[in-house]
Amino acid sequence: MNTTQPRPSLPRWVIKGVTDDCTTCDCCSRQNLKRTVALIPLDEDGNEDGDAVYYGTACAAAAMKRTTTFVANAASAARYESLSRDRWAQVIISVYGPYEFATPREMAAAWYSRNPNFTGRSPREELETFLTEARAQLTDTTLGPVRPHTVADFRPFVVVTERDASRMYMSCAVPGEGAEEFHQSVRRDPRWRSRYIVTVYALDEESAKDVAHLRYRLTQYQAERASYAF
Ligand SMILES: [Zn+2]
Repeated sequence: MNTTQPRPSLPRWVIKGVTDDCTTCDCCSRQNLKRTVALIPLDEDGNEDGDAVYYGTACAAAAMKRTTTFVANAASAARYESLSRDRWAQVIISVYGPYEFATPREMAAAWYSRNPNFTGRSPREELETFLTEARAQLTDTTLGPVRPHTVADFRPFVVVTERDASRMYMSCAVPGEGAEEFHQSVRRDPRWRSRYIVTVYALDEESAKDVAHLRYRLTQYQAERASYAF
């Protein structure tokens, strides 16, 4: 081994995203920045090693020996990815959260309704793993405060679907005041005549559609199981 050659310089940081929650650069202490880039140090094997630091774009670029444009682009891409993972996590918790302490049979019904081609061994393990990952995502504070992530955070939504849940027409939060009037106005709306109108609990509007879909699939699943029994 030739030890006189300098080792190729490994990237020492990974860019986790951009945030406007932290406005002081941890590197040079400049204040009132519009936003900072969240960086996590990497160990020699390239694994994340330690807590995030927040650098202004110029300091982040200097630390990474990259241009500020590269850093800004990578930071927005990482932030976008994190938001997509948040959306995935909100769906997972909305859909499976209520089954976490259900009986194994109920748990399996929920899992197979959403994953009809699942061939693994334990729906329960899958469901618990998904919930753990989803919670870890929504409680990760690298880019901002903890997001709602428990069943206690669920709110009611009215979802309008096709009778066979093949299409979702609308998902809307039920207002705290005037909930009854709201329900009536949805039921009277000519656009939703002969559609299926259901109230579900979820973390957000989009996840509510998945919950409505699962409810339909569960009914189908149970009907199929019942027909096998005879
Ligand atoms: Zn700085």
